[in-house]
Amino acid sequence: MIVAWCKRLLGRGEARSAEPPSLSGPVQATATDRRMMQRALELARQAAEKGEVPVGAVVYLGESEEARILGEAHNTRENERDPVGHAELLAIQLAARELGDWRLNDCTLVVTLEPCLMCAGAIVNARVGRLVFGARDPKAGAVASLYRLCEDERLNHRLTPIEGVLAEESSELLRAFFRARRSQGATGQSTSDARRL
Ligand SMILES: [Zn+2]
Repeated sequence: MIVAWCKRLLGRGEARSAEPPSLSGPVQATATDRRMMQRALELARQAAEKGEVPVGAVVYLGESEEARILGEAHNTRENERDPVGHAELLAIQLAARELGDWRLNDCTLVVTLEPCLMCAGAIVNARVGRLVFGARDPKAGAVASLYRLCEDERLNHRLTPIEGVLAEESSELLRAFFRARRSQGATGQSTSDARRL
């Protein structure tokens, strides 16, 4: 931790362009990532049961047996009537509180769906060390689909997203959720429902 802190301090004095991308762990999915994704999927299922778009997120620290969840959440936008009630944003806030530091350089964020612009912005601002996500979101994704915000060299924190972990499970949850909602015929939003992520 002290080494990471010193690196951060030193990094502040350097020109932005001279800073290397932030790498604070494996750049491929680990067994721990997959285990955490199972937990995120469980949270996503809980969200669906409450009428929320099924997206779940976990922020964890450490590897293997040492891995510890610092924050976890699912979408809460509908129930809280909160436009920023996205799983990854909430998990980041909880993790920072738990850690006692808004900098999450040593943490990994695992989320079932590709983050949107708002959440990708929060990931960069929180200096999250690693990002692992499941399915892509072709209509709103901001780390691989529409934008590659986490790899933008103009920003002073960068990370390379790791994608596709249990992606099919995540996609199927979303498909089932919107299928059920359409069959209920309650919203009349049909195919644009996905934009409510
Ligand atoms: Zn989001």
